[in-house]
Amino acid sequence: MPGAASPFPKGQGHALIAGAGIGGLAAALFLARAGWRVTIADREAVLHEVGAGLQLSPNATRVLGRLGLIPEFTDIAVKPHELVIRRHDGTVLNRSPMGRTSEARFGAPFLVIHRGDLQSVLKRRVEKTPGVELRLGRKIVELREDESGVVGMFETASGEERIEADVLIGADGLWSRVRPLSGLPHPSSPQGKTAWRGLIPREAAPIFSREAKVNLWLGPNAHLVHYPVSGGEAVNVVAIIDEHWSEEGWMAAGDPDHLARLFHHWGRDARELIAASPGWNRWALIDRAPESRWSRGRITLLGDAAHPMLPFLAQGASQAIEDAASLAAHLRSAKSGREIAAGLQNYDRARIGRTARIQAAARRQGQIYHLAGPLAVARDLGMRLLPGKGIIGRFDWIYDHDAEKTA
Ligand SMILES: Cc1cc2nc3c(=O)[nH]c(=O)nc-3n(C[C@H](O)[C@H](O)[C@H](O)COP(=O)(O)OP(=O)(O)OC[C@H]3O[C@@H](n4cnc5c(N)ncnc54)[C@H](O)[C@@H]3O)c2cc1C
Repeated sequence: MPGAASPFPKGQGHALIAGAGIGGLAAALFLARAGWRVTIADREAVLHEVGAGLQLSPNATRVLGRLGLIPEFTDIAVKPHELVIRRHDGTVLNRSPMGRTSEARFGAPFLVIHRGDLQSVLKRRVEKTPGVELRLGRKIVELREDESGVVGMFETASGEERIEADVLIGADGLWSRVRPLSGLPHPSSPQGKTAWRGLIPREAAPIFSREAKVNLWLGPNAHLVHYPVSGGEAVNVVAIIDEHWSEEGWMAAGDPDHLARLFHHWGRDARELIAASPGWNRWALIDRAPESRWSRGRITLLGDAAHPMLPFLAQGASQAIEDAASLAAHLRSAKSGREIAAGLQNYDRARIGRTARIQAAARRQGQIYHLAGPLAVARDLGMRLLPGKGIIGRFDWIYDHDAEKTA
């Protein structure tokens, strides 16, 4: 291929990743460990610490642990010791043990962490990893593939840049550019739900909300999730409400009075928590039907670009991390174009069924959380009767999974 912007010689296992979010950065680390040289490019000139809290479940921390990353989370993540589910008036419906109990059971911890903190840990490790180059301020706009490799074309502040590689990975999130460029349709289906995120500094947060617990409140047509992040220095609150609004982006401002009105009939603690947030960002929840392929030739996708999922099982970041680990395992010994394409086909086979099952389960969970009337009464009774492991026990199939061993 013509052009000379590749920082590494051709034909020696060079991966190009578009998108330095959670999945892209994780993929850079797993691929480097598998012997690949990696260029990772993001459209942002600076990776701002934006976003809200994320949950990392044992299926993600298990593989991150093999990169030696768990000690890096000690001061910034929180290990919740239980999941508490309440009805909107505050009545406790169920408690599921997390903490040591689930760590002993799954061999890896549940963590809650601010997205910006997680991204910073991954970025710092990327910057220290030989053979990985992070290039910011590069927005992928075009790609080309032939028998000898693949080229990504990027817009930069000063013009255009082309980067050649042996494989191209679209890790460019929910509104992916690589996805349509690789021939996949881009239909998004807004779910008629929005997420509102608030981050409350510890000293302003109600005392009950500072405890190391994941809290889920269920009400008619809405639910609320909160837990501490940033080593306990802030409390992350997310309110999900039934609402038709579908602008792109993570950072639209939300009107606090509107939210307070929607939650005026909830219990006192919930109202106090909502009132304590200094501001709100909202984004539209988007779902896409699963695809039968993510890969074409030497091009593939991971994370939200491949399988946007509703947040009701808190698996968005964890599945992007699983994808990253699985992809690297499938490309470990691939060298020729044919081997790379075969590795990507196997990656598709390993990942599409599992992520589609989680997408569907998350969708169902969202419907259950927002029930009203007699159906909500039946749901609440079912929650109370769940056996010892609580609701977490129903999702062992998610948390037990080892994305590298399966590969
Ligand atoms: C700014 C931001 C804030 C977020 N906040 C939340 C939140 O509060 N709660 C939540 O549940 N999820 C949030 N997410 C999404 C969450 O990170 C993902 O759902 C999950 O971690 C899966 O990660 P991913 O790597 O697939 O995508 P993401 O983590 O979204 O990363 C995608 C990356 O691709 C980059 N990118 C996009 N288009 C291009 C392009 N054309 N060229 C090059 N790079 C490109 C983006 O800048 C971003 O860094 C946020 C994502 C972003 C980008």
